[in-house]
Amino acid sequence: MADRYLRITGTAPGRFLTRRLGLPQPAALVRWSAERPALDGGLLHLTAGSSALDLAPVLARTGVAPAGSGRTAAVVLDATGVRDVEGLAGVHAALHPVVRSVADSGRVVVLGAPLDPADHHQAAAQQALEGFTRSLGKEIGRGRTVNLVRLTDASAAESTLRFLLSPKSAYVSGQVIEVGPGEEASEEPGEGPGEEPGEEASEEPSALVDRDRPLTGRTALVTGAARGIGEAVAETLARDGARVVVLDVPQAEQDARRVADRIGGTALLLDITAADAGARIAEALPDGLDVLVHNAGITRDRRLVNMPVERWVPVLEVNLASVLRTTDALLKAGTLNRGGRIVATASIAGLAGNAGQTNYGASKAGVVGLVRSLAPRALAEHGVTVNAVAPGFIETKMTAAVPLFIREAGRRMNSLAQGGLPVDVAETTAWLADPGSGAVNGQVVRVCGQSLLGA
Ligand code: NAD
Repeated sequence: MADRYLRITGTAPGRFLTRRLGLPQPAALVRWSAERPALDGGLLHLTAGSSALDLAPVLARTGVAPAGSGRTAAVVLDATGVRDVEGLAGVHAALHPVVRSVADSGRVVVLGAPLDPADHHQAAAQQALEGFTRSLGKEIGRGRTVNLVRLTDASAAESTLRFLLSPKSAYVSGQVIEVGPGEEASEEPGEGPGEEPGEEASEEPSALVDRDRPLTGRTALVTGAARGIGEAVAETLARDGARVVVLDVPQAEQDARRVADRIGGTALLLDITAADAGARIAEALPDGLDVLVHNAGITRDRRLVNMPVERWVPVLEVNLASVLRTTDALLKAGTLNRGGRIVATASIAGLAGNAGQTNYGASKAGVVGLVRSLAPRALAEHGVTVNAVAPGFIETKMTAAVPLFIREAGRRMNSLAQGGLPVDVAETTAWLADPGSGAVNGQVVRVCGQSLLGA
């Protein structure tokens, strides 16, 4: 499973040789740790054109100090006021002189506005920011990431900026994330089922949230959490303060209990495809659930011509049908508390397609459809957000089983020239699960190092 190439390029002779041969140069990514929770350097706040955003107080709360004369670890370019091609020159003027000085594993975050359907010049200029962001992501190198956030209200985007401007987003690059106006009703955690919807909308005052443990007092359930990405998600949500229920199949009992014991959670042994899975989860959680992570997933690869129905059905059942069924059951039963979060797991194979994975690609694209359709209704009717993470090549047992040549291609064919780690998907899930992320809804966020697949 180890990425030997990454280790070789981490040595001086290895770097010299691979550079001479014109081979990819993956940088050692800086990830979050308790000892190193923030980016190493300061933040440069730039603006292209005029902006109506009240950004400075929000940036001040992200935990990255202004860059001053020191090292620049992050640049935030507010381009929300760009309304035409002339305005785009301001984007070039702002970033051209500073991009070279952004530190290794640093961040560039471009802020854009929603496209105005009544003004095609504004829409053209704002859409241009996507092409700009994705192109800069592909060329910037040295473990640095570039993302675009479309927003109208800076404070509603605080949790998103906090995530993107931290080591937690190490493998998220080339993404366009839309943050709504922040109308979500903020609720106390742990409210029982059956609360009346439609209460007064208000943003969670960030001063009252424990920034180190934002999920304190909340209950999370992660399916397929006995190993791999699910295990990392369970650990990360527990780190953030949640009581975590580790759900996995009865055959994985030992691993599920080991994970649950380690993080002070509980194990729930259950095949998620069981017809009564939703009812059994609801029964196990009489005080309701705040964060539901649909992570369990399987592959049964074959080209369609060679794929018997026995390989088609289980993939669609585990990856999609059970996600739809349990989501419906838990929303209907009122198990998901208001202020709740659903995070489903798609895949770049569901966005771009992958040879030998018609079943898997269909199931994961189905997850995207579910998220896009349900998100606005779930928020309006239940106060619950619905988003998806779409992992790219992540180093797990699933990808260790991929033949060597395809595995190497998967690792290198992205802007960061390496595979991601389960914790990268976990950190992204934790951001979406954050009580402060109520304005992030209906998003499919790729955790793929800006993979060339479906880019
Ligand atoms: P994994 O195989 O290591 O772990 C999956 C877990 O799900 C296992 O513990 C398994 O027992 C559990 N599970 C399977 N069927 C279940 C069922 N019916 N009920 C309950 N639990 C069940 O996989 P992973 O690599 O950690 O992937 C996790 C998720 O991420 C999956 O949805 C996968 O499709 C998705 N994903 C992974 C990658 C990657 O590169 N690893 C890429 C894209 C998407």
